[in-house]
Amino acid sequence: MAARQQEPGAEAFLPEKHDLASLRRASAECQGCSLYVHATQTVFGEGTVKARVVFVGEQPGDKEDRAGRPFVGPAGHVFDKALEAVGLDRSDAYVTNAVKHFKFEERGKARLHKRPRPGEIRACRPWLMAELQTVQPRALVLLGATAAQAVLGAEFRVTRDRGRPVPSELAPIVMATVHPASILRAADDAERERAFAEFVADLRSLKRLLDAE
Ligand code: SF4
Repeated sequence: MAARQQEPGAEAFLPEKHDLASLRRASAECQGCSLYVHATQTVFGEGTVKARVVFVGEQPGDKEDRAGRPFVGPAGHVFDKALEAVGLDRSDAYVTNAVKHFKFEERGKARLHKRPRPGEIRACRPWLMAELQTVQPRALVLLGATAAQAVLGAEFRVTRDRGRPVPSELAPIVMATVHPASILRAADDAERERAFAEFVADLRSLKRLLDAE
């Protein structure tokens, strides 16, 4: 409980009237939770306001934290490859994260990803809601359990409900699948190939729903 009191949340940092540019500028100053203290910078979403699909991951990784851009690290490459496989283009997508600052623990020179706490995800939610309100996508795709549960609630299970539409007021099509980083964590090449094929299959379902609109 004490930890939650220390996290005022992002709401107070949001500009009153906003577009993507002003949101991005304002997010750079966010101190809505303590994650801004150790991270390099806010990693806000990226893409056009006309994007048909908004993809939401968990949080920036090491490379994203340094670059200030989402999905540019190894998981971002897997993501791009899967988009290409189903004929979806990044230029038709807006990519962002449920949490905008990198949470990590230091092991020697390495900075290892640390899962954000529910209080931190809650604190950061106003940015994601403002992005969705501004872009108003045809489809919202949640990548991994953290993003899915941040938006669809703690009961949502990606393993059970991945790849199919979920009723939500946030977009006409709302769907969850795994985070591309989970594919990189596969135990061996065979497992990695299988996980990638399943990820592509989920994106193919998304593409079919988009094409049917
Ligand atoms: S993680 Fe989100 S709420 Fe916390 S400081 Fe960063 S932008 Fe603000």
